[in-house]
Amino acid sequence: MNGVATASALNLANALRGAGIGDQAVLSVVAKTPRELFLDAALGHKAYENTALPIGQGQTISQPYIVAKMTELLLESKPKKVLEIGTGSGYQAAILAQLVDELCTVERIKSLQIQARQRLKRLDLHNVSFKYGDGWKGWANKGPFDAIMVTAAAASIPQDLLAQLGSQGVLIIPVGQETQQLLRVTRYGDDYRSETIEMVKFVPLVNGDLA
Ligand code: SAH
Repeated sequence: MNGVATASALNLANALRGAGIGDQAVLSVVAKTPRELFLDAALGHKAYENTALPIGQGQTISQPYIVAKMTELLLESKPKKVLEIGTGSGYQAAILAQLVDELCTVERIKSLQIQARQRLKRLDLHNVSFKYGDGWKGWANKGPFDAIMVTAAAASIPQDLLAQLGSQGVLIIPVGQETQQLLRVTRYGDDYRSETIEMVKFVPLVNGDLA
């Protein structure tokens, strides 16, 4: 993507810096990614506010702060090949695709998946593979991954995702129901170490069926 920063996206990036996001690469990508493209026209005027917004089907585009925070955490281990669970609008995928070599993303609602795929194509982001499926199971054929980011809240950590992490791979995942903790789990061989980052609020990661 060869986007240039727009005034409103730049303002958002500056607000995120003020909120504690320090990774310059993440802030530059936020500043040149048109978030309004990931929303219905009727919500376009709110695109650069630091808030989560509805994207239809009872789902939401995450708050820009949390997108940036999770991206910054994920980049600490310099991953090249990344899996995202919960494509949704495709905004988080568009941010990640500009910062890693290869992104795979899984969504269980077909209409959201199709729309996200079109948006990334429009932005000339071609290093992304899309799967319509149950992200609770990850994407085994494409693994192992250097990092996995889950953008919906899981009741517990899906074992398949742990298994699809490469050596020293990192899983960023919100875990819980009403109150959720954002966890970073790092793999060391057969050992996994977990740290709590902060409290968050995501829509649930559905376990099992497809929409
Ligand atoms: N990353 C998205 C956030 C979307 S909200 C964005 O930037 O817009 C979370 C998404 O996770 C929703 O689209 C929801 O349909 C999806 N989801 C929930 N459970 C899932 C599952 N088991 N597998 C794949 N996607 C799932």
